[in-house]
Amino acid sequence: MTSNKTPPFDSKDDIAHFIGGALHLPGNTRFGDVYNPASGQVARRVALASTSDVNEAVASAKAAFPAWADTPPLRRARILFKYLELLNRHRDELAAIITAEHGKVFTDAQGEVTRGIEIVEFATGIPELLKGDYSEQVSTDIDNWIMRQPLGVVAGITPFNFPVMVPMWMFPVAIACGNTFILKPSPTDPSASLLMAKLLTEAGLPKGVFNVVQGDKEAVDALIENPDVKAISFVGSTPIANYIYERGAHFGKRVQALGGAKNHMVVMPDADIDKAVDALVGAAYGSAGERCMAISVAVLVGDAAEKIMPKLIERARTLKIKNGMQLDAEMGPIVTRAALDRITGYIDKGVAAGAKLLVDGRNFSVPGSEKGFWLGGTLFDGVTPDMQIYLEEIFGPVLSCVRVANFAEALDLVNAHEFGNGVACFTSDGNIAREFARRVQVGMVGINVPIPVPMAWHGFGGWKRSLFGDMNAYGKEGVRFYTKQKSVMQRWPESIAKGAEFVMPTSK
Ligand code: NAD
Repeated sequence: MTSNKTPPFDSKDDIAHFIGGALHLPGNTRFGDVYNPASGQVARRVALASTSDVNEAVASAKAAFPAWADTPPLRRARILFKYLELLNRHRDELAAIITAEHGKVFTDAQGEVTRGIEIVEFATGIPELLKGDYSEQVSTDIDNWIMRQPLGVVAGITPFNFPVMVPMWMFPVAIACGNTFILKPSPTDPSASLLMAKLLTEAGLPKGVFNVVQGDKEAVDALIENPDVKAISFVGSTPIANYIYERGAHFGKRVQALGGAKNHMVVMPDADIDKAVDALVGAAYGSAGERCMAISVAVLVGDAAEKIMPKLIERARTLKIKNGMQLDAEMGPIVTRAALDRITGYIDKGVAAGAKLLVDGRNFSVPGSEKGFWLGGTLFDGVTPDMQIYLEEIFGPVLSCVRVANFAEALDLVNAHEFGNGVACFTSDGNIAREFARRVQVGMVGINVPIPVPMAWHGFGGWKRSLFGDMNAYGKEGVRFYTKQKSVMQRWPESIAKGAEFVMPTSK
């Protein structure tokens, strides 16, 4: 059943799919619960798409494709300009939705929306970005040019931790390139997807160009198996990224699948220690460590450990942890009960393996909101590379400190890890900084910058098991991912030589 209602955002209504410009909620829908993690209560229910819901969305996107692909890029860009204006107007509403379902603090959620908006700003430049290459007279009277054309229906499957920004890594660029898009958001915090859809409609996007299917594995598998879906962008954990990449390739699709992380921050003895502490605390505990670019390992070189540890302990102990809508909150709750149990399980494992638990976030609670999914900032020292808390992604507010003797050991440690998403080096030595940036086997590097998320026009992507596929999200690589190259070779009849040619043509 498809209704003509516009998406609701301020009610307890079930969270529906958005197909062909309208909400879609069939009678036999399965549902999942959506929690407010600060209260620990179920706030709403989200529809979980069946294969037939997904196929309906794909059919709608396929029907919308020819006209959208034919729409001049400048006119597509004008719709994005209008969307930009609406996003800026609704920035706080989107941020409040994020905080209510994810738990991150409101100011951080505002930052997330802003980083998403930057990709829309980038995508408004699409007429320039789609310009082809042209060579006149590649042979006598022959010209050759390259143009980039959209793929068709493309899909984006996104994680819970950035319910606005990560979808915006994908759909603004995809639709600017002339594709039609299906978003499959995380069922943990799905409401923002409908507000983004509503604003796109208000901006004048034709029906069917942007669709949302809420759901879980059934929806994902249906997208992968549908032959009309030409490309999949995925962001989430490494095992699922690996699965999507392999299954997508099996079905002949283009896939970019961004996975998990274990980001290290190397602190050299010559670093500005106060700035390094600020950076570590923000990057390890901001958003409760539920960022793919969070720092989860501090690599303390030489006597940096002695200088930094007392300050780090103090800061981890005094973090302001409360409902993210309180403006002085530094950290909100963990996203779900299951995630909280997983993270506390890792803290137990760290203790059992012999790491020194300097600040223990277990059994933390916020008075008046005792049922919320709370965890305090947690700090381990004496972590060694064989421990599970070092090897695996915890995805919570747990910082593990590893001590090493020198720069070479620090670099080897980072390079030996299976993940290669982000990394940072804090130092005041230009040569160390240069060597680090050149030799580290990680896709996104910060020099005295803890979370080096690339700007909209540079593209985002890790190395090793943090990214499957060969193209980054957004930026010029995003444009390449969402378009295919066509080469046109042109000669006009007056100059066509008489007679068939049986040899490989070369420039004459
Ligand atoms: P997740 O892998 O559990 O889920 C991501 C998406 O995959 C969701 O839409 C989910 O519904 C779907 N999914 C889950 N299980 C599936 C299955 N068995 N089959 C098919 N689809 C499935 O990730 P999450 O917990 O939502 O997000 C956190 C993870 O995302 C962390 O590992 C984090 O590092 C990673 N992440 C990576 C980046 C990056 O850019 N590399 C950015 C953000 C988050």
